[in-house]
Amino acid sequence: MSKFSNFNFAEKNTLIRVDFNVPIKEGKITDDTRMRAALPTIQKVLNDGGSVVLMSHWGRPLKDIEKKPHLTLADFTLKPVAAHLATLLGKEVFFADDCIGDNAKNMAENLQAGQVLLLENLRYYKQEEKGDKEFAEKLAAYGNVFVNDAFGTAHRAHASTAIVADSFSIDNKMFGLLMEAEVKAAEQVMHNAQKPFTAIIGGAKVSDKILIIENLLERATDIIIGGGMAYTFFKAAGGKIGNSLCEDDRLETANELLIKAAAKGVRIHLPSDSIIADKFDANANTSTAPSNAIPDGWMGLDIAGNASSEFSNVIKSSKTILWNGPMGVFEMEKFQHGTKAIADAVAEATAHGAFSLVGGGDSVAAVNKFGYTEKVSYVSTGGGAMLEFFEGKELPGIKAVMA
Ligand code: AMP
Repeated sequence: MSKFSNFNFAEKNTLIRVDFNVPIKEGKITDDTRMRAALPTIQKVLNDGGSVVLMSHWGRPLKDIEKKPHLTLADFTLKPVAAHLATLLGKEVFFADDCIGDNAKNMAENLQAGQVLLLENLRYYKQEEKGDKEFAEKLAAYGNVFVNDAFGTAHRAHASTAIVADSFSIDNKMFGLLMEAEVKAAEQVMHNAQKPFTAIIGGAKVSDKILIIENLLERATDIIIGGGMAYTFFKAAGGKIGNSLCEDDRLETANELLIKAAAKGVRIHLPSDSIIADKFDANANTSTAPSNAIPDGWMGLDIAGNASSEFSNVIKSSKTILWNGPMGVFEMEKFQHGTKAIADAVAEATAHGAFSLVGGGDSVAAVNKFGYTEKVSYVSTGGGAMLEFFEGKELPGIKAVMA
């Protein structure tokens, strides 16, 4: 694999896999974070005197159309993205309205140095998600160099995320700047973590986070468990959790995780108290209770004051912090304080020299919402990919470029 920043792209037609799966409402991009994240990579190629062919997926056209027949492929077009990209780059962006075929091929072949072409949504074709070799080869023909800058899809073995890389020699494929930064941050936490290393795991379901917790038991000194998933642990230990979220088929798993942690000397921290509500509603009546003694008819929707300060103390004495998943229903004002307090503690630890990585859709959304993006070391753009990385899985999008 070549190193992107050392590579000279002059006169190279560069095929770049980006993640432009951005929210679009009525033809307008409502959050262009992912597009901005790819700009340094695109600009370096253009500044070197290369041309750029960009490819991305958007949504799940074929699956959604099957479920909702009033939808058509046109509802999933990347055209608005091309227009927005032209604004961001301050130059024309050509658009091929089919990602394969003669038109796209001609447009790619005729690109001049400094020009940019965006291909239509790759997922118009079922071959993309199937990882079809022939389809991947057609895409590969658009460039003489391949750059993967789509960390968000690196956990998929799709045609454009992994298989396409097989058509390029090892010297002509590489990570883009975003992908490089993502992998570097993740590797630092996974393999080079300074201790104490605290992992903060929150969110709704234990079942989604079992593998990551198991893998972190090998690496972390402390694991903080918050959010809806904590109540399965309390019930497993015989606590009363009222109507709080619980996965009854995971009670045993929860106990097993605690036993494994004790055997490995990893400290598990559960929230001692909770903000409870009489219904799952932004205007619910609220109170505070020990997390293992929640009255019938009430549910825990956030960590409360004692848990917040206990967790914050652990975080502030850490040298490495990984955060995946919110501490409560942070989308509702009444239940956002716990997640905010944790963001504050992570920011403070970072200011004192800790390395902090926030990954996973909802914790990233929370960090953005509360204005902590610049106060942590790294915010990952890849939810599922980051989760799988920390589950210890090999990501096909990374492997294909390195092989
Ligand atoms: P996940 O996608 O598994 O990381 O879960 C994130 C979601 O979990 C967010 O939408 C939160 O609102 C939700 N969540 C966090 N804490 C709780 C809780 N105590 N009860 C119900 N949902 C929660």
